[in-house]
Amino acid sequence: MDRREFLLGIAAGAALPFTVPTTNAADTSVSVKSQRFQPMTVEGLEKRPDFWKVRPDEIIALCESAKKCSRKEVICHTPLGYPVYALFYGDFNDAPPQTNWSAGSSSTTYKNYMGNPPPAKQTFLFFAGVHGAEPETVAGAVNLVQALETGKDFRGRTHDELLKLIDQYRFIIVPCVNLDGRGLSPDHLHGIEWTKFRAVSQGTWKDGSLVGWRGSKAWFPLPLDRVSYPGGYPNADGYNIMHDAAPGNIRTAEARALLRLAERWRVDAVLNGHSYEHAPSVLTPSAIDTPDNVTRANAISDRCNAAIHAAGLVQNKLKENRTPRSTINLNTVLALASGAITLTLECSVSYDRPDKEGRPKPTRLYTFDELMEPVFVVLREYLKDGLEKPFLVRGDETVKGD
Ligand SMILES: [Zn+2]
Repeated sequence: MDRREFLLGIAAGAALPFTVPTTNAADTSVSVKSQRFQPMTVEGLEKRPDFWKVRPDEIIALCESAKKCSRKEVICHTPLGYPVYALFYGDFNDAPPQTNWSAGSSSTTYKNYMGNPPPAKQTFLFFAGVHGAEPETVAGAVNLVQALETGKDFRGRTHDELLKLIDQYRFIIVPCVNLDGRGLSPDHLHGIEWTKFRAVSQGTWKDGSLVGWRGSKAWFPLPLDRVSYPGGYPNADGYNIMHDAAPGNIRTAEARALLRLAERWRVDAVLNGHSYEHAPSVLTPSAIDTPDNVTRANAISDRCNAAIHAAGLVQNKLKENRTPRSTINLNTVLALASGAITLTLECSVSYDRPDKEGRPKPTRLYTFDELMEPVFVVLREYLKDGLEKPFLVRGDETVKGD
């Protein structure tokens, strides 16, 4: 890129494309600040399989070495300085929107936001690892990138049907958003007990008590001087990126970068990858969106959950058409940024239910393959759904007048 292109890029507000490096991925070294807290080590944790590449240096090296993608960006740096990569597959040569979705959706035609002509294919954004302690969707994303790049994932398995579906979209993948939390967390939580999972995820106060899942949400950011361990849930500044969703006061570079991605590339649908301590599921969508989006997202979540059941990954079929929730989180503001349908996938971290005192024991310990399998199942169904009927009816073809 010469100086003129560089200045034009800045003038257009366009993110600068990165040159695909020619160096061996193994040579990659990223200089980051040291963690304030020691990474959590869990006694007796089994050795991870070779395909479970979820450490920051492995994720960054994979992204740096990706060559099949049409575009690659470091969308932000984490507080510790890790580069957060987005890889783009498909045609991303469209000029930036001339208006934002808020104005454009109310203007004379949706094309003022979408471009004229709009992108030939719908745009899908999949990101994983917003909570760094939850490595399962990161493992799925990393294996998907490897399949997109080489035809096979790190197990040597092909994903022909899914890759063909992805090819019918403009597809953006961010394999790990919260690399700070990932770097602080164990490679996996396979077979560990519930309280340990809570400690690893949301951390512990100085008196040793658990911060807890809901407890962690009492703070934004988590007061790092009061904890003995912050968990891999927040970034290194203590922010839970999933709840960085107060318009006018977005606090993290990571959330801003995802919102910018959605807006800039006119994203039509989002899958936000997480894990929890139950059998995998796509969560019931939030009611805080357009009525059409809520109905559609609910139907897609039903379809994905039926497919998770059909794949043998969950014992009981989930009830359909569940009542949308009142949740406000990153999905809410992503939907505002580009009008997108947004859904959260929760993989399991280990068992089909937590091993808590007084409750029935878990009946199933998932294998590592099974832990990340919902990523492939859900992406397949989600993408199929958007081809059967476009995700969004963005507006009229014709100019409406004044
Ligand atoms: Zn999560």
